[in-house]
Amino acid sequence: MKKISFNAEYEVYEDETQLPPAAKKLLQKAKEACQTAYAPYSNFKVGAAVQLANGEIVKGSNQENAAFPVTICGERNAVFAAAAQYPGVQIEAVAITAETVSKELKKPVPPCGSCRQVLFEYEFRQQQPIQLILQGDAGEVYIVKAVKDILPLLFDASYLKK
Ligand SMILES: [Zn+2]
Repeated sequence: MKKISFNAEYEVYEDETQLPPAAKKLLQKAKEACQTAYAPYSNFKVGAAVQLANGEIVKGSNQENAAFPVTICGERNAVFAAAAQYPGVQIEAVAITAETVSKELKKPVPPCGSCRQVLFEYEFRQQQPIQLILQGDAGEVYIVKAVKDILPLLFDASYLKK
């Protein structure tokens, strides 16, 4: 028997003013996208912005439904839209932010497990890391260098092929 451990590493910035310009801009786009969220049930609005290698930025937000399980998360909405509008174009980074009426989100909101799996699908496909830029209402910003860094023991397409 042996034990394997995982080491998740990410950068922590004091606030958005400390970020490299490209990351700061993408985060701003995610905050804009937050305003398009349709979240009448949870009041938890998520905005995401995808930076593509061709220079385009594609935004997305969470879209809820009276049949709760068919709701889609903001970052999944954004990455699906990017892949549909610009198929085959490399995804460089995804900024994700959130806001809610019930409390101030003082720390970055990470993607849920389903979104990590979806984001990793694109990372695996392009064989290049996708950077994640995460912030709540304000304050600290986390930068994750690759989706795989926060999805240990992950499932990918290699299990499905011979
Ligand atoms: Zn999600």
